[in-house]
Amino acid sequence: HAQAAKGEIAIENISYTYYGSDNAVLRDVSLSLKAGEKVALLGRTGCGKSTLLQLLTRNWDPQQGQILLDGVPLPQWQEAALRDAITVVSQRVDMFNGSLRENLLLAKPDGNDETFRHALEQVGLASLLDGQGLDTWLGEGGRQLSGGERRRIGIARALLHDAPILLMDEPTEGLDRRTEQQIMSLLLEHAKDKTVLFITHRLVGLDKMDQICLMDEGQIIEHGQHTAL
Ligand code: ATP
Ligand code: MG
Repeated sequence: HAQAAKGEIAIENISYTYYGSDNAVLRDVSLSLKAGEKVALLGRTGCGKSTLLQLLTRNWDPQQGQILLDGVPLPQWQEAALRDAITVVSQRVDMFNGSLRENLLLAKPDGNDETFRHALEQVGLASLLDGQGLDTWLGEGGRQLSGGERRRIGIARALLHDAPILLMDEPTEGLDRRTEQQIMSLLLEHAKDKTVLFITHRLVGLDKMDQICLMDEGQIIEHGQHTAL
C-alpha cells in the first residue's frame, strides 16, 4: 500500500509480549483516532505507553490483534509510505555522527539550508549555528549536545517532517517550564490538522486534546475529555 495517508488510526485488541518475557506489556488494547483527532495517553511509568508507540511505527508487531492505518493493516503498508505518513518525537532522540545539516536532512530530504536554519530558530537553537553553521559536526569528535538541545533537535525534525500523523513521547521532558510552553504551542500549531497521539506525564497541552486516555498495566482503563477527568 503506497498511497498518501489521511491519518486515521485503528488499534484493535492488540497484545504484546517482549521476546523472552512471560508477561504481556500490552493487553487487549483498542483505541481509535479519526483523521485529525488528538489523543493524549497518560499513565504510570512502565505501563506500556512507549511500547504502544513502537508498535504504531512497526518497530515490532503485536502477537495478537492488529493496527490499521486508513483502514489498511500496517503490514500491508510499504515502509517508505509509512515513514511519510508518521512523524515521531521519541522519548530518546537519536543523533548520529554527522553535521547538523545531515541530522536534519533525515526529517526533510528535500530541505535546504534556509528551511533548516528556520526550524532551528523556531526551537530556540539559533546559537548552534554560530561558527560552523549547519556544517557543525555533532556527536563523536564534534559538538556534544545537552539533553535539552538534543530534545529540541528532535522537535525541529518533527516540524520539518510534514506527515499527517504526529506521535509524541514526552516531547518536552527535561525542558524548563517556559521552553516547554513555547515548544508545545509550536508543535500543536504544526499539528493543527494532523492526527496526534501525545504521551505525557505533564499537564501542558492537555486542553488541546480531544480525548485523554489513561493506561495502567498494559490496558486502557479510562477514556474521557479533559474536563471530565
Ligand atoms: P515511561 O513512562 O517510564 O516511559 P512506558 O509507559 O513508556 O514508561 P514502556 O517503555 O512501554 O513503558 O515499558 C513497558 C514495560 O515493558 C516495562 O516493564 C519495561 O520494562 C518493559 N520493556 C520496555 N522495553 C523493553 C524491551 N525492549 N525489552 C523488554 N522489556 C521491555
Ligand atoms: Mg515511555
